[in-house]
Amino acid sequence: MSDLILFWHRRDLRISDNTGLAAARTQTAKVVGVFCLDPGILQQDDVAPARVTYMIGCLQALQQRYLQAGSQLLILHDNPVTAIPQLAEALNAKAVFWNWDVEPYAQIRDNDVISVLKAKGIQTLEKNWDQLLHSPDEIFSGSKTPYTVYTPFWKNWSSKPKNNPVATLENCENLTDAEQEIAKKTGTINLPSAKDLGFNWDGELIIAPGETAAQEKLDNFIKNVIKEYDEQRNYPAVEGTSLLSPALKFGVIGIRTIWEKTTELLADTNSEEVTNNIISWQKELAWREFYQHAMYHFPELAEGAYREVFKNFPWRNNEKHFQAWCEGKTGYPIVDAAMRQLNEIGWMHNRCRMIVASFLTKDLIINPQWGEKYFMQKLIDGDLSANNGGWQWSASSGMDPKPLRIFNPASQAQKFDADGEYIRQWVRELKSVDTEYLISGNITPLERRAVGYPAPIVDHKKQQALFKQLYQEQKAGTD
Ligand SMILES: Cc1cc2nc3c(=O)[nH]c(=O)nc-3n(C[C@H](O)[C@H](O)[C@H](O)COP(=O)(O)OP(=O)(O)OC[C@H]3O[C@@H](n4cnc5c(N)ncnc54)[C@H](O)[C@@H]3O)c2cc1C
Repeated sequence: MSDLILFWHRRDLRISDNTGLAAARTQTAKVVGVFCLDPGILQQDDVAPARVTYMIGCLQALQQRYLQAGSQLLILHDNPVTAIPQLAEALNAKAVFWNWDVEPYAQIRDNDVISVLKAKGIQTLEKNWDQLLHSPDEIFSGSKTPYTVYTPFWKNWSSKPKNNPVATLENCENLTDAEQEIAKKTGTINLPSAKDLGFNWDGELIIAPGETAAQEKLDNFIKNVIKEYDEQRNYPAVEGTSLLSPALKFGVIGIRTIWEKTTELLADTNSEEVTNNIISWQKELAWREFYQHAMYHFPELAEGAYREVFKNFPWRNNEKHFQAWCEGKTGYPIVDAAMRQLNEIGWMHNRCRMIVASFLTKDLIINPQWGEKYFMQKLIDGDLSANNGGWQWSASSGMDPKPLRIFNPASQAQKFDADGEYIRQWVRELKSVDTEYLISGNITPLERRAVGYPAPIVDHKKQQALFKQLYQEQKAGTD
């Protein structure tokens, strides 16, 4: 066997602060990267063109980073369970390393890959959790069970020491010409474009692909935004959040690198206010880990409602209402603004994700899984754990004990888009409507017709009452 270690990238599209990759480099200089475009994932009906476009851009950037480090990133387009071991065997690799993932599909796939590699006598790396500050096997409640509620999770998680970033890949030894030939014969290809793969995205991306752009986004956020995060994050018209979610989804920046920036900033400040703002952002990073731990320990979350009362809930599932919600034509300005933002840029502000999710489940009384899937079809940061967590939270169907959260679209708009700036940005036909009517939604039928904006498809008050009634009936039946 040669000294070569193949490093299989998945949701860690970077060479800096990558724990599995750094572990490979400590064993050998001959580290070669590989990424496998998995038809099993790309052919699903919940893949967003913006997400694939961002991912391909990140892979391009990663190829450059490998060249700078003296090695290369190979690309496969096949089932990884067969393709990865075949390539490893053909290159006579002594090991294949990768970072572990929480998603149910990834775990089954990885265990299959391990079996094939083992049968070929090729080593793998022990479970390695690069994308998390703490692994799901590390954080348990006093009774040694996984947390199902965020606040105690946060207390435990935040009290634990965190690792520092690890070394960037450098000074590698590349494949020989003969090995390059073997790699080609074993199915490696040139990186296709997103269009080649059938995904057309002509819009701008909220973040440029690649490690450098992610690092710049982080630096800008730390320098200019985080100090007012707690207040500003709630206003969708303001750029008050980091916009790092796509980079975190694909691991284009290391979580240790991010955390270190926040701790440096905390050490640098004497202001209680600034401290609170930084901690408020750290809490969001902890939500991300909370949902990943939850998915790991309770994979059934991916299949639907966690709480019994929602397992057979009599959702109304009106197709026309769903269509109107998807298109941003519900007649509720803040809901429509948010859905149009999603459709146009492949990203939606967190406050608005909560508003539209509440509207779909509590006003339209539509199964949250419909919304969850639509989000995955559009979001550049679409991520099973975070998306499922957000939808279960909004639908009140998840592990969180608080039973019902119903958002009133008008009061949300009055509070968080008081000038109607966000609504006007995305629902352009409402540009000239008075702010008061815009945010309350009290636009006259005449005015709606005049600007070509639809009447409300449901009555919030009535639907809220209906939802509560259905919920109580269902609860009585399951208690
Ligand atoms: C219904 C619904 C669906 C969602 N779907 C996704 C999704 O598919 N992918 C996704 O990354 N986030 C999802 N979120 C969480 C959140 O809306 C986004 O992470 C956030 O808006 C991304 O913007 P940002 O990077 O500027 O966030 P910031 O406010 O800067 O937060 C920093 C990072 O923390 C993480 N984070 C923040 N809030 C949450 C949260 N509530 N849950 C989990 N992680 C969080 C993200 O990685 C984010 O990039 C969803 C929320 C809801 C309510």
